[in-house]
Amino acid sequence: MTDWAARAGALYDGGFRPMFIGGAWVPARSGAVIEARNPATGARLATVPRGAAADVEAAVAAARRAFEGPWSRFTPFERQALLLRIAERFEAEWETLCLSDTLDMGMPIARTLANRRRVIGMLRFYAGQAVALHGATIPNSFPGEILSQTVKEPVGVVGAIIPWNAPIAGSVWKVAPALATGCTVVLKPSEEASLTVLLIARLMQEAGLPEGVVNIVTGTGAEAGAALAAHPGVDKIVFTGSTATGQAIARAATGTLKRVSLELGGKSPVIVCRDADIDKAVPVAAMAVFANSGQICIAGSRLFVAREIHDSFVARVADYARGLRIGHGIDPETEIGPIISARQADRIEDFLAAGPGEGAELLAGGRALSGPGFEGGRFIAPTVFGGVTDEMRIAREEIFGPVISALPFDTFEEVVARANATPYGLAAGVFTTHLGTAHKLARRLRAGSVWVNMYHAIDPAVPFGGVKMSGYGREGGIEHLDEYLDTKAIWINT
Ligand code: NAD
Repeated sequence: MTDWAARAGALYDGGFRPMFIGGAWVPARSGAVIEARNPATGARLATVPRGAAADVEAAVAAARRAFEGPWSRFTPFERQALLLRIAERFEAEWETLCLSDTLDMGMPIARTLANRRRVIGMLRFYAGQAVALHGATIPNSFPGEILSQTVKEPVGVVGAIIPWNAPIAGSVWKVAPALATGCTVVLKPSEEASLTVLLIARLMQEAGLPEGVVNIVTGTGAEAGAALAAHPGVDKIVFTGSTATGQAIARAATGTLKRVSLELGGKSPVIVCRDADIDKAVPVAAMAVFANSGQICIAGSRLFVAREIHDSFVARVADYARGLRIGHGIDPETEIGPIISARQADRIEDFLAAGPGEGAELLAGGRALSGPGFEGGRFIAPTVFGGVTDEMRIAREEIFGPVISALPFDTFEEVVARANATPYGLAAGVFTTHLGTAHKLARRLRAGSVWVNMYHAIDPAVPFGGVKMSGYGREGGIEHLDEYLDTKAIWINT
């Protein structure tokens, strides 16, 4: 049995952790730092550089040198071998990576550990794709012996900006396809959770990553993030985060017309039909929101339940919410950890007050937790609101916290219209035992992913992303490669 607490002390001792530029471990040019604190206890884990424009400049230059230099001479098979060696390092250090994430952003250790297949699978999946990239020979309408063909080329230097809520998966999902396609990367983690990303850079270096191929610039969004989005030396921005920041990044990128793909926020519907298998649906619908304390972009926070079963179903979800174990993520029994920051917790508490203020009925939770075990951080009880209407703020806005809004519905057409009546379109869930209903709902819901009789399934081989204001572009699957590739047409008059 792993003694996580003992290992935690050995991993972070409050000291300085440099960032990674051009294969070197460096402080910010300004010397400024950001404190990394454990959201469960408030304890200082480390300090990291507060990188800004000058550091982004250095990182982009290193990425450009690598892209045009040694990295461009790596064969696809050498890039594949590198990705497989990185996967090996991840296997060997998986527990350390998960512990780091739990300490730095609060995700319960049991949950981080469970992401192994998805994260390491991503490295291996794109290792496979590295040697499968190819263009085509295409018939054309010219008379004579004129050959037309396409080749796939890497877009160049990729600026990757990620949020705090899943640093391991978030960084691997950006870096693995970049390495497969031959791009180089400047990655900016969130200022709320940089430590695990620095650890990942260390593992990549140990696996033989050439200098400058992946660079990590820690720092704030306003400084390092904005500088990266606007930098003329960056060919493409891949961003995961809030819709408002995505809009700012898309605006910043227009100056240089760089390509952008955006994985943004959501207000995903979960629809429970009258014929659903209730015993199976209750825990899945509950955890569709409560996992990671609701700090997940795909949180199924609008729970539409057929009116005939609404009250009994929602009562069971509320019971489930009351039974969840809340505490420090480092305890393997913990199911719900802390909220990342005081700012985020204040935002969620504002919604907890707004719900009853607009007439919603509180069925579970609805409060911040205090007392023994909760002193150092901010914890919020999993919350279920009934009697919610579509117009209420809790039913319209992304809360990014453990809050379910339950809404009754009567007909198929009505629930389709109401579920789609949101600016977002990231994900949706459906619970039904009727195959036709499952199929029809899956087709009619406007979302990048629809899960039927399940939720949360994300796989390296299956594309993930949003429609409408949840963004554009896909991560995962072969579709992801196109985000990092240009197609060149070559004509040869033989
Ligand atoms: P955020 O938008 O505040 O920050 C995300 C990243 O952008 C951080 O690294 C931040 O430093 C940086 N940033 C902030 N302002 C910037 C600017 N002006 N220019 C460049 N970079 C800037 O989001 P967050 O609070 O870290 O994460 C929560 C949000 O992320 C939620 O809205 C959630 O839905 C979304 N999210 C989406 C997905 C997805 O796959 N669709 C996954 C996880 C999180």
